[in-house]
Amino acid sequence: MDCLHIEKAITFIAKGIREKENTGISKRTPYCYSKDLQRGINMFLWAAFSMGGVGENVCAYADEYAFLKKFICLPIREWFIDWSEESKRQLQLENEYFYYLEALAYRVGCDDVYMASEDCYDYLNRQESNIIESLDERGVYNRLKELSQEQYVEVRRFLIQNPIATEETRREFIPKIAESPTARDVIEIAYERFYESVYRCPTCGWTLKRTANDYVCHSQYCTENLPTLTDEMVIDGAQDKIYRLKKGVMRYIASPGKLEMEIVAFCKKNGIEYALWPQKDRYDVEIKFSNGDIWEIDAKAVRNPKILSAKIEKDGGFPSGDYEKGFFVIPTDYVKGKRNYTSIVNQGLKAQKNVKCITFATLKKYITEKVKQL
Ligand SMILES: [Zn+2]
Repeated sequence: MDCLHIEKAITFIAKGIREKENTGISKRTPYCYSKDLQRGINMFLWAAFSMGGVGENVCAYADEYAFLKKFICLPIREWFIDWSEESKRQLQLENEYFYYLEALAYRVGCDDVYMASEDCYDYLNRQESNIIESLDERGVYNRLKELSQEQYVEVRRFLIQNPIATEETRREFIPKIAESPTARDVIEIAYERFYESVYRCPTCGWTLKRTANDYVCHSQYCTENLPTLTDEMVIDGAQDKIYRLKKGVMRYIASPGKLEMEIVAFCKKNGIEYALWPQKDRYDVEIKFSNGDIWEIDAKAVRNPKILSAKIEKDGGFPSGDYEKGFFVIPTDYVKGKRNYTSIVNQGLKAQKNVKCITFATLKKYITEKVKQL
């Protein structure tokens, strides 16, 4: 029994939660069996049992629903609370980044419904090259990379700016990519048609889903910050031919793209030369100053600094290149209530002297200062 075993268990559980999320995890929803989830639960319980946790309760939690109810709304570090001190010392769990994950799911309103949390999705995204393949976003991403630089930018920007697209919007866009069957392919794979009348999420622009008494978005942040929904937010997929991005594409491609667009808008407004996704996403934004200095930016929309740090480490740090400075940039509101966010990430960046993790607000300040000096 080692930390890798626990990491695998948690990954399978997270994957199972994501899989089941389509129905909402609830006692009332028809039982839909997730092989991964059960496998993860068995692995975790076995580990807990051999480390003195859960005790004779081990059988009580072997049932999927009982396990989820007990564990998924707890931060991961609390999953180990009843493990023996000796075993925790041996394993050195504090050295494992999964130990710092917040709860894998959150409860919606007063319903007995659970949705996968941001940490659950970000964790899976960090793990996915090991375990998860052939997801929608992978297909989209791989095809995007086959495009010319110009078309890559054109198509990716379209996805970010149109979480929901009417037949008309799509038709207007198609001529721009007419010569490329691959680009048209991307649009085909990225979207799915929907036939219901739904609310458009006022925060991210995607479709809200109804649970028994509440509405949920793909993102926990959106769900927890929903304003009162009004008739103007309704879009009717039954009346018109309307498409939405598939969930994985929304979450992993379009949603993080929002920050990239904001960075670009800032450069544009201030007359700074920039390139979006230079070398097809080697970086997200490249800034060129009038004296020839180059800054490369990698925008990261990950709320948990431990996950971001682990992801950067896995990717081998900031991509190398001929730049004066490299920045991992996070949305400014991510440091609210987490003032040490950037210092946690920067701990892991010490080997790259000209690379730092900063907020978007700090980036704007740095750019303004730099321009003044020129
Ligand atoms: Zn939303």
